[in-house]
Amino acid sequence: MIDYEESDEQKLLRESLSSLTSSFQDEYWRGKDETGDFPEEYFRALAEGGWFNLNVPNELGGAGLGISEVSIAIHEAAKRSGMAASDLLMAICVFANQTIKTFAKSPLRERLLRELARGEHIMSFCLTEPEAGVNALDITTGANEEGDGYVINGQKIWTTLAHKATLMNVVARTKQKDKVAKRTDGLSLFLVELKDVKPGQIRTKRIDDTAMRCLGSNEVFFQDVYVPRENVLGQVDRGWDVLPVLLNAERIATASMSIGLGELVVEKAVNYAKERIVFSRPIGKNQAIQFPLARSKADLECAWAIAQRAAWELDHDKDCSVSANIAAYLGARAAFFASDKAIQTYGGLGYAKNSDIERHWRDSRLFRTGPVPEEMVLNFLGQRVLGLPRSY
Ligand SMILES: Cc1cc2nc3c(=O)[nH]c(=O)nc-3n(C[C@H](O)[C@H](O)[C@H](O)COP(=O)(O)OP(=O)(O)OC[C@H]3O[C@@H](n4cnc5c(N)ncnc54)[C@H](O)[C@@H]3O)c2cc1C
Repeated sequence: MIDYEESDEQKLLRESLSSLTSSFQDEYWRGKDETGDFPEEYFRALAEGGWFNLNVPNELGGAGLGISEVSIAIHEAAKRSGMAASDLLMAICVFANQTIKTFAKSPLRERLLRELARGEHIMSFCLTEPEAGVNALDITTGANEEGDGYVINGQKIWTTLAHKATLMNVVARTKQKDKVAKRTDGLSLFLVELKDVKPGQIRTKRIDDTAMRCLGSNEVFFQDVYVPRENVLGQVDRGWDVLPVLLNAERIATASMSIGLGELVVEKAVNYAKERIVFSRPIGKNQAIQFPLARSKADLECAWAIAQRAAWELDHDKDCSVSANIAAYLGARAAFFASDKAIQTYGGLGYAKNSDIERHWRDSRLFRTGPVPEEMVLNFLGQRVLGLPRSY
């Protein structure tokens, strides 16, 4: 029998995170969004509260939980404090902990997981390149074998938090496209520790963008960056086998963020719709206002059900690629619809920065474009699930 109720442990996670986030109110996130400054105080509070320990194995002093609990934490953080607050959990628990615990070798694995749990690192995931776009097989950042390691040269773009990162997961070509038997061979995933990189070898340039502005997107330039062989995650040339673990966990995380954010804006819009009086009655009495909010609730509930299933599949070593993609797709669309309707509910006030709705609307749009644009989810479903001819 399927148990739909969250466990006592999961309920407790929600309560504790909700209590932590209550110290970081809208004014805090609005200020960070305005200046683009990293939310240092919140990051420290997460570390001190043990939140980066969630999916670190028990034998290393961690809580030993899975992506199901990480997704609950991400969902709760988004629901209480918005997208940037929850994205930080993804950066550490998904990009770092999940990848390192699954693919890094000892003793690097144990050292980094302990340091991560103490909040000593910020991780960036460097995949997207200016010329390759969504076609990851077209990346040109290269890693040439040299001595007992590899030397990385190339450029990435849109890397979240790269200007603050102490660790980077970098996808690079270890074999050129024309030298591989299978088109997915020849890519490798490198774990770069920035403490070992000489000044100037990794340069970052901030992009002035509109989503999660306090975390920041960057161009990243790699020049002769040496990475020891033991920092290859998975096998050399077989990065394509490692990436799904990371990308599926990321899709579950972005779905959870979207859904949490959607719930936040629906709650705000509902409260406003009850209070705002026009034509001598609350605007929420009009179905034109009420129905889109009710539909948002339905969309968010459905997306959450599939996100939880994807997390369960991942935690039970089952293929979660279909449900993770569907969750990311539905979650992002539901969040954007909800925040758009929240702006409509707020009327002109929705555009005022101090209503916070416009910030949530900007943030909610992101996951329809990246990490996986909705067109690519539909391409994947069309081909892999429905068996239609490959369209890309
Ligand atoms: C705020 C922000 C943060 C990000 N953070 C990171 C990060 O931390 N790390 C990282 O590696 N990347 C990051 N990204 C990059 C993000 O994942 C990409 O922007 C996204 O994957 C789209 O790639 P692109 O921008 O190159 O679009 P393009 O590849 O240029 O595509 C443009 C549009 O064309 C569509 N398209 C292209 N080919 C097809 C096709 N065959 N069929 C149908 N439609 C198609 C795409 O779906 C998209 O809508 C971030 C992006 C943003 C905006």
